Amino acid sequence: MDRKLRVKIQSFGIAESYSLSIAGKDKNHILVKLKEFIASLYDDFDNAFVYEGKKLLFKLSRSILSAPVSISVVGTGYVGLISGVGLAMRGRKITCVDIDENKINMIKNRISPIFEAGLQEELEKLPKEYFMPTTDLKNAIMNSDATMIAVGTPCKENGEINLGYLKEASKEIGKILKNKHGHLVIVKSTVIPGTTENTVKKAIIETAGHSNFEIAMVPEFLREGLAMNDFLYPDRIVIGAENPSVANKIKFIFKEFETKFYVTTIRTAEMIKYASNSMLAVKISFANEFGNLCKAIGIDVYEVMDGVALDRRINRAFLNAGRGFGGSCFPKDVQAIRYLADQLKVETKLLDSIWALNKEQPKILVKLAEKHLGKLKGKNVAVLGLAFKPGTDDIRESPAIIVINELLKKGANVYGYDPVAEENMKKIFPNIAYAAAPEEAIKNADIVIGVTEWPDLKKEELYKGKIFIDGMKFFNKKTEGNYEGICW
Ligand code: NAD
Repeated sequence: MDRKLRVKIQSFGIAESYSLSIAGKDKNHILVKLKEFIASLYDDFDNAFVYEGKKLLFKLSRSILSAPVSISVVGTGYVGLISGVGLAMRGRKITCVDIDENKINMIKNRISPIFEAGLQEELEKLPKEYFMPTTDLKNAIMNSDATMIAVGTPCKENGEINLGYLKEASKEIGKILKNKHGHLVIVKSTVIPGTTENTVKKAIIETAGHSNFEIAMVPEFLREGLAMNDFLYPDRIVIGAENPSVANKIKFIFKEFETKFYVTTIRTAEMIKYASNSMLAVKISFANEFGNLCKAIGIDVYEVMDGVALDRRINRAFLNAGRGFGGSCFPKDVQAIRYLADQLKVETKLLDSIWALNKEQPKILVKLAEKHLGKLKGKNVAVLGLAFKPGTDDIRESPAIIVINELLKKGANVYGYDPVAEENMKKIFPNIAYAAAPEEAIKNADIVIGVTEWPDLKKEELYKGKIFIDGMKFFNKKTEGNYEGICW
């Protein structure tokens, strides 16, 4: 549907009227188009009144020209893709950039390269004009108001944060900003305090040859498996900004998000992300330690944690005892902050213990298998749920990797099953057997280990006559007969 608009622009006391036709009815879309239209005519103006018939639709001030409405997102992984799709759903004009051509081609064809509930459906709905995947960084930056960096920041063998991707991306952005002034750069990747200013900003200044750009750090708190929902409805948006004007621009980008903004310095924003993830890792490990103890005494740790969480100072989330945490965030972030502390000669006894505890926790599942079967050499073991948690195909640091490694060390034959993560796990374990359905993995198994509780695995009839070792509360049962829970 074409909207026929009349735009009256006042600049230096002179008013001029224009007729404009804009397709579509979304208000944000209309704003983007209006901004483009006004910017094509004026560098500066006082007010613009936009009418549809006689109805005043918008009164715009000059701030619309500096408001970032089109955004390039560098890195189209879990965070970049979801941020891009989420912001496009809220009316921002998004160009998603990646160096991985395959990924970009898939997204161009509206096929999500990752599995996340709701992502595929939303991706299919986004019009080309609003969501453009590309490998052309230059074009993306030159045609956007702001660039969000969401490249990976994994950790090295020694735990240190690996800033390789971030440095490379920053240099590339800098080269392009040589010919552009006033751009806003937002770091969304998780980075240790000081990185945005000392690495990203520095690299951009070096390659751009000027510092006429703005920088901010906006950490992302989404959980894989619930990522779309977490991005669209965050508990808070933390804004680490150089000055209030930059913070206001970020607020504009997220203005449709009904949430609290927490504005702080860049370094504080960087640290908030590490403190949040470490806190959650502490909660999980705390519940696991109590779980191990409760099992030894014969007390239900879930009941204990329900009781604990009735205290208003303690929230029940992340207190489910089980086989420990994995994923692309908690392990590497706990590692990176421990490494940083070590460099600063600051002790992190709490985080050190969590790290040690979490690496041992999944091994308990294998010990329990040995308790039931004796030696595992030559035994068939079904490992169900390979992703680090249900709802994702991400296997990075999945507890299933520790379990499978232990089983292989002991000479067991492993039959893995996961509804979506098989292809990713094959890259780590190409030689174990994979089943297309849980029944197939279970059929010849001497024992079944449930590592990640996908809904299609939570059916008791699947395990009839089999010993089932439960790592994640697949069933609300107590250890008895052929059923054994890791902490219950
Ligand atoms: P990812 O590995 O899934 O995606 C990173 C993407 O960046 C890849 O597609 C890669 O090809 C691309 N890339 C690398 N260098 C590039 C370059 N120079 N130009 C363009 N693209 C480039 O990573 P992720 O899981 O999305 O994590 C990204 C960041 O967000 C990390 O810092 C992570 O710690 C943080 N984070 C992740 C999560 C999560 O749940 N995955 C949650 C919050 C924060």
